[in-house]
Amino acid sequence: MNKKWLAFTDQVKAHYQMDFVPLHEPTFNGKELEYVTDCIQTGWVSSVGAYVNRFEEDLARFTGVRRAVAVVNGTAALHIALKLVGVQAHEEVFMPALTFVATANAVSYLGAVPHFVDVSEKTLGLDPQKLEAHILAIGEVKNNQLINKKTGRVIRAVVPMHTFGHAVELEELQVICEKYHLILVEDAAESLGTYYKGKQTGSFGKVSAISFNGNKIMTTGGGGAILTDDEALADYAKHITTTAKVPHRWEFEHDEVAFNYRLPNINAALGCAQLEKMPEFIEQKRALTAFYEELVAPLEGVTLFKEPTNSFSNYWLQTLIIDDTLVRDDVLAFLNDHGVMSRPIWTPLHKLKPYRDCPRADLSTIERLNKKIINIPSTPIKEG
Ligand SMILES: *Cc1c(COP(=O)(O)O)cnc(C)c1O
Repeated sequence: MNKKWLAFTDQVKAHYQMDFVPLHEPTFNGKELEYVTDCIQTGWVSSVGAYVNRFEEDLARFTGVRRAVAVVNGTAALHIALKLVGVQAHEEVFMPALTFVATANAVSYLGAVPHFVDVSEKTLGLDPQKLEAHILAIGEVKNNQLINKKTGRVIRAVVPMHTFGHAVELEELQVICEKYHLILVEDAAESLGTYYKGKQTGSFGKVSAISFNGNKIMTTGGGGAILTDDEALADYAKHITTTAKVPHRWEFEHDEVAFNYRLPNINAALGCAQLEKMPEFIEQKRALTAFYEELVAPLEGVTLFKEPTNSFSNYWLQTLIIDDTLVRDDVLAFLNDHGVMSRPIWTPLHKLKPYRDCPRADLSTIERLNKKIINIPSTPIKEG
């Protein structure tokens, strides 16, 4: 690490006008206080209220899907999304080994088994070529179902994840899904506002999941949403995320074992205000990419990760890729020591204790990339 890196950290701190720049902070400069205050003044802070409906409608309009169902967090959204498409206990679900643990946990909640596939260097998300090669090696189609010949289990779905807001190759994945009877469920937790070939991520899956956790591009405090074009599935999602209560003026009739996954009205109020700011956030995130591009250019052994072909990315987290001349932990130590918070990528899921024994494909790209990815401060700010 040398003077050039020192110049890098100095310029980042100057840009943010901070001595220690955090990785990502929420930005509240819209109508957040107004809407939340309205909830408190009217008493509508909890399980029902006008902001929930409004947030769902605004979100459906923004993402270009027919329906959005707001839930308590992104993990719950994934859980319900997988349940809606019919993932059953003892079935398998393909997903990248490089994702947040929630993707695998949601599969486990249904008694199903994650099946890990490699990522592409171009997108940092699920690699369609490697997926198909793996299917050809271990799969067999019987009675319109894909069976894992090694485990005997049905492989029901594929859950791609749009890493740091960069869209995976969705069209290629759609073709594979058609061909091998797999259902596409997008983990779009990180990619609200990202477009693939002019259509938003989260609108390609039969059902998709978004997160509004505090560190995401927009936040509801904690929250998530299920997206789908299928009205019947959306109605069912609403029903089972709100305890499966049969509407009645006073009777407590619940027609199945269900979940209390609803998003409180006060969180939805925050969401309505944040959603109004999304175009601005995306613009600022993309301007930040241009800023970093200039800053990174003089540094040796490192490149800024740019949006893949076909992706118009929200650039949720800015990403550095280092080469073999640098040691990741040295870079992390230097940046954090010099006031620029930075972080490695998640431990690949096949290395985590609960998921060590899950079926997996060749994961050589992840094994190689794992020690090369660094996220740097990404809070959207006004330029200049
Ligand atoms: C944030 C995130 C989730 C889960 O969202 P929560 O709201 O924290 O439950 C799921 N998948 C990915 C890839 C995420 O980044």
